[in-house]
Amino acid sequence: MKLGVWFLVVMLIMEIFLLYFLHENIVDTQIEGELSALQVRGNNHRDVLEESYRSETLQHIALMESKGETDVIITDKNQNIIINSSELDYAEEKILTYDLKNVRRNGKVIEKRWRDEKYISTVTPYSINENQKGYVYMFKSTEQVQKFISNLNHHFIIAAVLSGVFLLLTILFLTKVLTTPLIRMKKATEKLSKGDFSVHLPKMGKDELGELSQSITILANDLKHLKEERKEFLANISHELRTPLTYIKGYADVAKRKNISEEDREQYLGIIYEESEKLSDMIKDLFDLAKIDKNMFVINKVNVQLRSYLYALYEKVLPAFKEKGIELELNCRENISVMIDPMRFEQVLLNLLNNALKYSESHTKTSISVRKEKRKVRIEIKDEGSGIPKEDVPFIFERFYRVEKSRSRDSGGTGLGLSIVKELIEAHEGNIEVTSEPGKGSIFTITIGEMTE
Ligand code: ADP
Repeated sequence: MKLGVWFLVVMLIMEIFLLYFLHENIVDTQIEGELSALQVRGNNHRDVLEESYRSETLQHIALMESKGETDVIITDKNQNIIINSSELDYAEEKILTYDLKNVRRNGKVIEKRWRDEKYISTVTPYSINENQKGYVYMFKSTEQVQKFISNLNHHFIIAAVLSGVFLLLTILFLTKVLTTPLIRMKKATEKLSKGDFSVHLPKMGKDELGELSQSITILANDLKHLKEERKEFLANISHELRTPLTYIKGYADVAKRKNISEEDREQYLGIIYEESEKLSDMIKDLFDLAKIDKNMFVINKVNVQLRSYLYALYEKVLPAFKEKGIELELNCRENISVMIDPMRFEQVLLNLLNNALKYSESHTKTSISVRKEKRKVRIEIKDEGSGIPKEDVPFIFERFYRVEKSRSRDSGGTGLGLSIVKELIEAHEGNIEVTSEPGKGSIFTITIGEMTE
């Protein structure tokens, strides 16, 4: 509405200015035309007079003008009237007294104030035999001009009112067309801010308004998805926390009893200890995830020589693999430089190696291999473990997703490891993929950009 009123005011001011200038121009042109016609008429009389200056000629001129809309007065050089076409009135007498200095042969306009005076008037000098003999005064009543102007004013007022109404209607229509979708979108965003994500906006074409409406719809859907995801995540967390707590509580209850053997008590306390460990692992993972979500996870990338870095890691995990009877191999022929956060990247690799260890039997082989491809570096962690069923593969990077719920839990899994791995790799602007065949093994492939000098 505000915009509409502004537009209306600006357009009206413009229209008034335009009409005013147009009006003034028409009036000026009309008056100029009248004056020059009067002057030409006076000049014609002069020509006739100069050709034959006789009393009949004078009479003839006066007679001609007595029938027309104009009046003529012919004077001698002292402005004494020789002849006049009609009776003089006060206004004409006044004009006759005007000073006639600088009047050239072609005459001069001596009265053009059509608004205030009764006549507009011109004067042309005439001479006989090179001697100045007198003046031809021409008069035209301003009554007609005024009538013409008042007619013109009338037309202008009608035009102004019509265009004003048209303008008003156009603005009303435009504001309606423009504001209806805006108001609808405003209501939709208000709904969103109150937590109601069921927003439906009609399709609105491909202009800016349409794009805005589409963005709001996308935003509503994203928020809805986020809300559901959060709900699910919270449900998962409480479930995952409850399970070890139930164990802890149950075994603590039993361990408290007096009539049990020392051996059993020891076993129960052992289980309680293990479950507490799992709980604290899970809480640590949850903290990591929360930090990633809040973007508080700072990745300090430094230039790392992959071969020595991986070798140190290999040495670190080798004893655990040896203990389970799994062969561990490292293939990194070239020394390649990458920009990574060594701590975070180690967390990623340890997680993947730990999974390989967890889900493989003895007498199998796990390998870490590095390949360079164009400007990318691929790190593959390949195991000959249980593999992942095809239908589970798309979900294993999701939070709390575990293929075999109970088996993974028994082996200490939280279902959070791979989701953290994925977030960390993405924070390194990298990518992680998995190919797996149940019963044969899995290959986790990390791709990151190579460090270029
Ligand atoms: P968890 O802590 O349970 O291992 P992860 O997020 O690390 O959770 O892994 C999710 C699931 O993916 C695991 O429960 C497991 O079923 C499967 N998985 C992960 N790595 C492997 C692997 N190397 N071999 C077979 N299954 C795997």
